[in-house]
Amino acid sequence: MIKLISRALIVVVVSLVLQACGKLAPELSCNMARNSQKQRVAWTDARLPVKLYIHNSVPRKHHEDLKKAVEFWNNKSNQELFEIVSFFTDGNSSPKRDGYNMISWKDTWESENSTEQARTQLNWSKTSLYEADIVVNDHNFDYATFDEELKGKIVDFTSLMIHELGHVLGLAHNEDQSSVMNTKLAYGEDRQETENIVDVKSLSCEYDMKDI
Ligand SMILES: [Zn+2]
Repeated sequence: MIKLISRALIVVVVSLVLQACGKLAPELSCNMARNSQKQRVAWTDARLPVKLYIHNSVPRKHHEDLKKAVEFWNNKSNQELFEIVSFFTDGNSSPKRDGYNMISWKDTWESENSTEQARTQLNWSKTSLYEADIVVNDHNFDYATFDEELKGKIVDFTSLMIHELGHVLGLAHNEDQSSVMNTKLAYGEDRQETENIVDVKSLSCEYDMKDI
């Protein structure tokens, strides 16, 4: 029996500019993150593709998984949404506002959040995302590469990154079974082939996505 991991994936949203000048009309969520004035936040065309930096702490065996997660989203769009700029980024891996969209690996994790597999932190100004950092919880979970057999208590790393990159684009959680943005990712669950039309529809509110 597959055991579900509760409250597995949580996005932490940081809004730097809480109040824009003047009052702007609220927007429908499209199942995306919204700022304090209830307007959707997204990357502007000028900031696309989102440039990703992979910290040295991420095991090399998972580099191919990251490429596959990037391809997953790029294939659903009429433009490149993501680009991996560097796989070998050194320095402090803690998420911080430094202009780099960093993916890093952590072998310690707060015990009160032990069911969380990864965390994506978004930074925006008004309605424009400008930085996102992903940290992976290596303390409480084991991860499989895209071609490894998913047996036992192991999490498919590619599926996890597809989910977190969805957050990077601004997507919120969605419990629709066809979404890759479900809060719960079961051990052994593989989302690499998910059609996720529901997510593409959401992103169409902000990005140029392929027809569905
Ligand atoms: Zn999540």
